Amino acid sequence: MGFNQPVVDTSPKVSDEVRKTTCYMCACRCGINVHMKEGKVAYIEGNKDHPVNQGVLCAKGSAGIMQVNAPSRLRAPMKRVGERGSGEFEEITWEEAYDIAVSKLKPIRDEDPSKLAFFTGRDQSQSFTSLWAQGFGTPNYAAHGGFCSVNMAAAGIYTMGGAFWEFGQPDWDHTKMLMIFGVAEDHDSNPIKMGLGKIKARGAKVVGVNPIRSGYNAVADEWVGITPGTDGLFILSMLHCLIKAGKIDLDYLSQFTNAPVLLDETGGSAEEGLFLKDKDGKALVIDRNTGKLAPFDGKGVYPDLAGTHRKAGVTHRTVFHHMIERYMSEEYAPEAVAERCGISAKRIRKLAAELADVAFNQAIELDRPWTDFRGKKHDKMVGRPVSFHSMRGISAHANGFQTCRALHVLQIMLGSVETPGGMRFKPPYPKPATAHPKPHCKVTPGAALDGPHLGFTHGPDDLCLREDGTAARIDKAFTWENPMSSHGMMHMVISNAHAGDPYKIDTLFMYMANMSWNSSMNTSGVIEMLTDKDEDGNYVIPNIIYSDAYSSEMVAYSDLILPDTTYLERHDCISLLDRPICEADAVADAIRWPVVEPDRDVKGFQSALCDLGARLGLPGFVNEDGSQKYEDYADYITNHIRRPGVGPLAGWRVGEDGLQGGRGEVNEAQLDAYIENGGFWMEHVPEDAAYYKPFNMGYQDWAVKMGFFDAVQPYIFQLYVEPMRKFQLAAEGHGERQPPEHLRERIKHTLDPLPIWYSNEPENLADQYPVTALTQRPMAMYHSWGSQNAWLRQIHGHNPLYVPTKIWEENSFEEGDWARVVSPHGEIVVPVAHMAALNDNTVWTWNAIGKRKGAWALEENAPETTKGFLLNHLIHELLPANGDGMRWANSDPITGQAAWFDLKVRIEKSDVAGQTLPDFAPQQSPVGKGPKDLAWKLGK
Ligand code: SF4
Repeated sequence: MGFNQPVVDTSPKVSDEVRKTTCYMCACRCGINVHMKEGKVAYIEGNKDHPVNQGVLCAKGSAGIMQVNAPSRLRAPMKRVGERGSGEFEEITWEEAYDIAVSKLKPIRDEDPSKLAFFTGRDQSQSFTSLWAQGFGTPNYAAHGGFCSVNMAAAGIYTMGGAFWEFGQPDWDHTKMLMIFGVAEDHDSNPIKMGLGKIKARGAKVVGVNPIRSGYNAVADEWVGITPGTDGLFILSMLHCLIKAGKIDLDYLSQFTNAPVLLDETGGSAEEGLFLKDKDGKALVIDRNTGKLAPFDGKGVYPDLAGTHRKAGVTHRTVFHHMIERYMSEEYAPEAVAERCGISAKRIRKLAAELADVAFNQAIELDRPWTDFRGKKHDKMVGRPVSFHSMRGISAHANGFQTCRALHVLQIMLGSVETPGGMRFKPPYPKPATAHPKPHCKVTPGAALDGPHLGFTHGPDDLCLREDGTAARIDKAFTWENPMSSHGMMHMVISNAHAGDPYKIDTLFMYMANMSWNSSMNTSGVIEMLTDKDEDGNYVIPNIIYSDAYSSEMVAYSDLILPDTTYLERHDCISLLDRPICEADAVADAIRWPVVEPDRDVKGFQSALCDLGARLGLPGFVNEDGSQKYEDYADYITNHIRRPGVGPLAGWRVGEDGLQGGRGEVNEAQLDAYIENGGFWMEHVPEDAAYYKPFNMGYQDWAVKMGFFDAVQPYIFQLYVEPMRKFQLAAEGHGERQPPEHLRERIKHTLDPLPIWYSNEPENLADQYPVTALTQRPMAMYHSWGSQNAWLRQIHGHNPLYVPTKIWEENSFEEGDWARVVSPHGEIVVPVAHMAALNDNTVWTWNAIGKRKGAWALEENAPETTKGFLLNHLIHELLPANGDGMRWANSDPITGQAAWFDLKVRIEKSDVAGQTLPDFAPQQSPVGKGPKDLAWKLGK
């Protein structure tokens, strides 16, 4: 008897059409193929040609179908009709919505634009929204960086012109050892997964440093369960070992860093600790060829790391000299730091030795000649194949900026930044702090601000202070309290606005920022501030306008809602002016476009800003005759010109010989070209420009041609950050702009121009609250966005508090138990689960799973509301009182980054169980409740 093999169609046609766009289920920005059937999204897959993900798709990405069909989507503009917080709204037309917005915004622009605070969350259009805010004239604008990872970004830019993710990545093709610090699921999601696969297949070693062994740390070859907040000490201890063993790259340090720059050592002078400079302002080194002073970048100069210069009876030494003196100190010896870090001295030495072995004994050479900025020709590219990656885990501490600096300095001392096998920048980075704008804050009624809001300060003169010395910005960014707050401080806006400190505002305008829930510290307090009334019965924060695509918790606390689209229904540009999708070997940008048309009366927020900007007559948003300049965001993306030949998108611009990438004139068909190409544009970095980018004239010339900058700007890495010394000098009494007395000692201590480590435990009352409580972002959920996604909430519908064995046994916990967790600020009651691969004094949970009853169109008894919770209730934006009569901000004293991960708690078994506490009264849902089952059928 014979069998007939059944004929199976292994590639059934699943769609009528494929539309290629960019994913937005997290911030990673992979390319996706959206399969359409009967006009609806049927299936999403990764785009194999896309530079970010090369076809890889994660669980979140494929669940985009449920995001575009979520019952929680807002349907139309709304105005509040009940009390704030109640969730009672009435749907209105866009015309009415714009009229209300203009009636609030126009008077304050005419009288005092600083009465508007305009802050955006995790959007990817900051070069556009900041332009709008500039046109309005308010100094009060920023995005969410201040409560995310500004410490990492700012430390990277001040030190070397970029950090990780959008700025740089490990050299996945050559690295032989990767160390990740404090990384769970990361911003650079799919590329890290792909990279880990690549390097593990090659046998390279991955070391995960994290109190919690989950995600990437679970697949690392070695896990270091460090005590939270001590990463900087651990890094500086490894540096101590490397220096002692002579395993640092002296040649690299001499040529490409400020290690050989001479410091003024005239004790007590206003220049002490600043660079010795020539008459052109160039930092000076001793040239080994002549033994004489020379500008650091002079042709043929060979800087001497050990140089000294004697003048007026004073010997001036190099940065390198000071570094060796500091880091050779026994305070950084492994034995001195081991107990605090929770890592044995032997292990610290072993890891330092492994780094040294890979960097120097396993060095690689690429046969690629290149020429540096001093005119020196190099016949090859030498690689130190150790690399690092980190983001929020080491950033979100009050010592985070210095810790991130320490990590960048460690990489540089090994000679592994921008060398084969090390960390590589992604164009248009590297870009030093001096190439970025300074912050601007000059307010003129009825006119635009005097320049961009955010930037990099280089000394006291750049602070955003008013004439009387008070803060010019509502968030108090760029003040003596946090002089280098490059991303602003969104987390302080509501509490400052409520307190009227430094001044009162009239309208709070926010986008995509769930500030009454998971995006705020002190959530209960913020809810009170948003609903608080003065003695006349008026809200203390008079007007709140908010834009979101979904019925998030923040919607209920707003007066006017501008409903945004989902990511598959909108235009976006992932721009070189902003946060592009480049790779180390390629410059690239991308778009989103409406692969489906909205079936509701909603509008992309950026398009709404084009309308609103025109109605308010904002510069940049109206033509000379007063008519609307940009019909919508797509029109802006195509036609906006930032600098001659440079617009939001760099692909398919009009050149003399036709269409070209980089610089060029406006191309009305540009978006069509992107769509045709799969939603992105990419051009490869020339081979001889691919490494040593800050110093490599091949790269510099190419960068000018592409429009990243207008003239070549080679620079050296700043191991010693001179602007920090300028703030210290002010605190020592030099200069006209002086800090308040109570901040002097803190500035002197924390703004050290060479990385230091300091403990945050005393301020957080660690003697009474000995356990650190952390959150991590899960692989299948990105902040709150995915929590109402019908597929993803099946993976993370609730979140236990994970407890290490030691605490588990001390409390005789059993599976199914609940615990009371108490911090200096508050308490919560939550379910617990045992986890062995966890630092002994750390508990943790997934981020932003817990939901408010009534929000996100969920049932009131949804697991997110009964067994889900936030740690936010335990964290205050101010530190506990410490007896000096003041409450200090719970943030990094340099950048103002929110110190989420300094949270200290006590934990004990709870008799109460079954409902997480605090349990808030339900909000009324403006979009009703979702159906029990979300199902539909496409095709046969
Ligand atoms: S990693 Fe992020 S951008 Fe990429 S597919 Fe997943 S959710 Fe989308």
